[in-house]
Amino acid sequence: MERKVKIVITLGPSTASKEAMEKLIKMGVDVFRLNFSHANHETHKKSIETIREVSRELKRDVAILQDISGPKIRIGEIDGILELKKGDKIVLTKNNPSKRNELTLSHPQLIDELKKDEEVYFADGSIRAIVVKKSKDSAELEVLNEGVLSSKKGVNLPSTKHSLSAITEKDKRDLKFGAENGVDIVAVSFVNSAKDIKEARKILNENNSDAWIIAKIETKLGVENIGEILNEADGLMVARGDLGIEIGVERVPAIQKRLIKKANAHAKPVIVATQMLLSMVNSPFPTRAEVSDVANAVLDGADAVMLSDETTVGRYPFKAVEILKRTIENIEEMYMYHKKYEIGDEDAIAASVSDLCKGVQPKAIISFTASGQTAKSIAKYRPKVEIYAASQHKKTLRRLNLIWGVKPFFNIDVKKPDEFIEELKHKLKSTDGFDKGDRVIITMGSIVGKKGMTNMIRILDLD
Ligand code: PGA
Ligand code: MN
Repeated sequence: MERKVKIVITLGPSTASKEAMEKLIKMGVDVFRLNFSHANHETHKKSIETIREVSRELKRDVAILQDISGPKIRIGEIDGILELKKGDKIVLTKNNPSKRNELTLSHPQLIDELKKDEEVYFADGSIRAIVVKKSKDSAELEVLNEGVLSSKKGVNLPSTKHSLSAITEKDKRDLKFGAENGVDIVAVSFVNSAKDIKEARKILNENNSDAWIIAKIETKLGVENIGEILNEADGLMVARGDLGIEIGVERVPAIQKRLIKKANAHAKPVIVATQMLLSMVNSPFPTRAEVSDVANAVLDGADAVMLSDETTVGRYPFKAVEILKRTIENIEEMYMYHKKYEIGDEDAIAASVSDLCKGVQPKAIISFTASGQTAKSIAKYRPKVEIYAASQHKKTLRRLNLIWGVKPFFNIDVKKPDEFIEELKHKLKSTDGFDKGDRVIITMGSIVGKKGMTNMIRILDLD
């Protein structure tokens, strides 16, 4: 059986060469993530071109996911380092700092929005402080634990209801760039509400892109508003790095399970991200806990697992992908396939296909899907056999690389069901693993390839 859960890797210095990308695609990487918090447009453009070139050469069209950085809040410049002890006072100021303990913020207006007793975290949550006094242009904080602060360190405001939009001016430029360069999927950072997704969607539309939008859930508000966010977004990322800082690491596992369950029920893809094999940045061997984490994400129902530092700056990017792959393959042997859901109108075909599989034991399900929706709906039921997707749109096939159990198979433009079946027979004859007498289940529309029109299930025996 082939691997169902997909692999997303982040490109960076460790994996920037054409040879590296070639190797990664051959190893089975499904989606390449470009992190727009790092590198410039020139570098990203080169990555996009190289991925597309290698995809053509290897005849395996992977997806490109553009991750836009969102409103990452940072402190300003500090002269050297600032050593802090419990009980120390620091001041966030909108003015020019005049004392050592005065700090500026990348978004000074936030200082107005802070309230007494709210928490301010610095440097990935390693230093925590609380607002003890507010005055016109400043906020005085009391430091809660010892630590060292230096220039430009990140800031999290876990309890502040602030007005920063998830889409910054830089993000707008990045979205336009991504649209122009044909990225398949966009991940929006620090999503707090459906409004953030709508805003990203509007910018993409204005730039003629219908890329899927993944909401990165990494704030308290994002978790609270998950219902409306999921209605608007095409999928989710459990962004455990910032999520752990904002809500406490001990709450991340339960939230991960809840988010995955919700996304699964909506037939929308969900990626589990961050620190999956972090120790492999410096070591050729993962910890047992990391491997268990990957396996548990698979059992939770993730569509994809993601590597970040492991493949951007790590010393063992290929070993990390290999471990990820083998861990997924091993745990999938005990996966509980054929999920049950209450069946709505939009799901009826998909649910029937999953049930039908148990009786007719097909070699594969083959779905002609214009937008990818039918393939996603079938995947929701987690059938044990692979879902092969055919579409007239190459971009649909590319995006489906993110979906659990779906194999982008075949780019074809026909209108009549019989034409599709004929072409499919030819295609299967030349595909490894299919022989005379094999049975497949096909879904399509009576007008093939019309969006939202899948209304046929056909059982076909290959002759
Ligand atoms: P990042 O997002 O890597 O862009 O910060 C993922 C996370 O926060 O986990
Ligand atoms: Mn993040």
